[in-house]
Amino acid sequence: MSDKAARAAWLREALERASHEYYVLDRPSLGDAEYDRLFHELKALEQAHPELRTADSPTLRVGIDVGASHLAKYAHLVPMGSLSNAFSDDDLESWAASGRDVAGDDFDRSGFCCELKIDGAAVSLTYRDGVLATGATRGNGSVGEDVTANVRTIRDIPLRLAGAGWPALIEIRGEVYMTFDGFEKMNAERVKAGEPVFANPRNSAAGALRQKDPTVTARRPLRFFGYAFAVPGAATLPFASQWELLDTLASWGIPVAPHRRQCASLAEVHAWAHALETTHRAALAFAIDGGVVKVNALATQADLGSTAGGREPRWAIARKFAPDVAETRLVNIEIQVGRTGVLTPRAVLEPVEIGGTTVTYATLHNFDLIAEKDLRIGDVVQVKRAGEVIPQVLGPVPEKRDPRDPPKPFRAPTRCPECHTPVVRVADEVAVRCPNECCPARHLEELIHFTARNAMDIRGLSEQRVRQLLEAGLISDPATLYDLTEDVMEALPRFGEKSAQQLVAAIEASKAQPLSRLLFGLGIPDVGEETAKLLARRFGTADALQDASTEEIEAIHGVGPSIAASVSRWFASQENRALLKALARRGVNTTEPKRAEAEGALLGKKIVITGTLPTLGRTEAKELVEGAGGKVTDSVSKATDFLVEGADAGSKLEKARALGIEVIDEAELLRRIGR
Ligand code: NAD
Repeated sequence: MSDKAARAAWLREALERASHEYYVLDRPSLGDAEYDRLFHELKALEQAHPELRTADSPTLRVGIDVGASHLAKYAHLVPMGSLSNAFSDDDLESWAASGRDVAGDDFDRSGFCCELKIDGAAVSLTYRDGVLATGATRGNGSVGEDVTANVRTIRDIPLRLAGAGWPALIEIRGEVYMTFDGFEKMNAERVKAGEPVFANPRNSAAGALRQKDPTVTARRPLRFFGYAFAVPGAATLPFASQWELLDTLASWGIPVAPHRRQCASLAEVHAWAHALETTHRAALAFAIDGGVVKVNALATQADLGSTAGGREPRWAIARKFAPDVAETRLVNIEIQVGRTGVLTPRAVLEPVEIGGTTVTYATLHNFDLIAEKDLRIGDVVQVKRAGEVIPQVLGPVPEKRDPRDPPKPFRAPTRCPECHTPVVRVADEVAVRCPNECCPARHLEELIHFTARNAMDIRGLSEQRVRQLLEAGLISDPATLYDLTEDVMEALPRFGEKSAQQLVAAIEASKAQPLSRLLFGLGIPDVGEETAKLLARRFGTADALQDASTEEIEAIHGVGPSIAASVSRWFASQENRALLKALARRGVNTTEPKRAEAEGALLGKKIVITGTLPTLGRTEAKELVEGAGGKVTDSVSKATDFLVEGADAGSKLEKARALGIEVIDEAELLRRIGR
């Protein structure tokens, strides 16, 4: 066998095995991106050497043979296909070029209907005279598994179609999926019951759909979106585009996915796909693995038809996201010393592009995790970046170590990298700390935290500036910031007259911040923004809080015993008391303004804010709501009074609408609080 023939055989076998794990066992061991890569390699090999293509090649078939399934079989009235993939704008352009070869100008004239690619399990629902008769999985495209009893338990799926105009016999195609929330709840239950957890919402949805016992399916939070239908024989339809088809499905009571878009040109499609990947995706309550681009005019779809073997339509293509996992080299493990002295390792990577962003740093959490994963400097590592989440190192690829000269195991530090004090490890904690209260690294972090936007909000004091002032010996603790003058700063390199003036003005303005921000800015262990507000409101002044007993602090609703103990400990320190005194002496406000609680326009109201508001930042909006007696919560529930909607609102908006909760915009919020 030639090398190429052997490679093709190996690829067929690997893809077959992966498909079995994915479709039958619902337990994939390969990542989707890796599967797609192998699939493309086989496709390219077969295109270049058609003699290598076998009749049973995965590139010619849809899904998997259902012969061995424990479920009854169902022959689809019209076969169900798959989709070809585009991983870049260029791939999409090549798809369009082939489409133009077949349909000419009609290809572009038709426009495009862009939809979410729901990452679930494909099903076909057969309705006879508007009544749900059968539900079946895609199976091998011609024959699927009969899951009628199971789909009947999915509340999104109408047992009877609404509206009018549906053909007497129709197969509605769509995707059964599970929301992230539902998936997490279900996995939590499985952990409790000692059962293995599902890897992702897609596998759990597919697993739940293919249960033998429909009462098990009924307990799973399954949902459904429809995106197509098929009618056996030649049907005359009262509409001419994919867009209208989706509208029609919705009018029949079939849920249709949000964020669909009609695009007049491929350039618009590219923009839509990028917005989907970089913005909308993160706000969705369910998983998608890309978008689907469809030629909009049904007549042009018919002209384009399917690829040989009918596996994929030529009029539609999946626009997949760039994989969110990439391999690169771990160049270094940097150690940062936080303001409480905790040493945190951070991965420095050879820059790698993941999902359109270059990643150079990734979180490593703590030293135990490094040891557990046996991560070594110099290793090739897998890095994951999902949405806005900080990139993470998943682990090393040990096979890629040079066996003659493998990297040395990483040794956790025994001394602080900044002040060389031996580190300590608090019992029961994974954290390693530098115990030196005067460690310069701690001062830097302390000052950065103090000046942050949600603390004393001293604009213009960047990390670099703080570092420069510290190194010049002009500041040491937060109180010394208030001794800075324009003259001394102007004398420093890179400090102009204007920037020195602005900085002094910003420092001066910060003196008026309320006690709550000061308390948060002081970095008292365990005191976040919310706790700082609770403390400031209850005691009113720093003096009163300093004199309060642990019991009095603990009595505040929302403050637990460990936070109370931490606050008491902080105020018991002579050094901290001296710092507070020094701040007050320099004119920093140490009181909390009284809120006109009883008069607050939003008194007792629970409010959720979602999306980007046109003028208010999140912290600002929250403060305004709280100032008017309202409370901002993170998630929408029946108890929510109203939701404030900003641009690109996602799942919270959907949920509020579903629960019939009032939705208002920023202007209305400002009106209600009398601004
Ligand atoms: P696919 O999932 O890439 O695309 C086709 C499917 O997309 C359709 O069957 C349909 O169910 C679904 N879909 C979702 N939204 C849609 C919409 N709006 N319009 C039309 N269709 C929509 O193709 P496939 O053949 O089901 O599976 C192949 C893919 O499955 C691979 O690309 C890979 O990502 C994954 N896979 C992974 C493994 C693994 O081991 N990880 C194994 C096999 C398959």
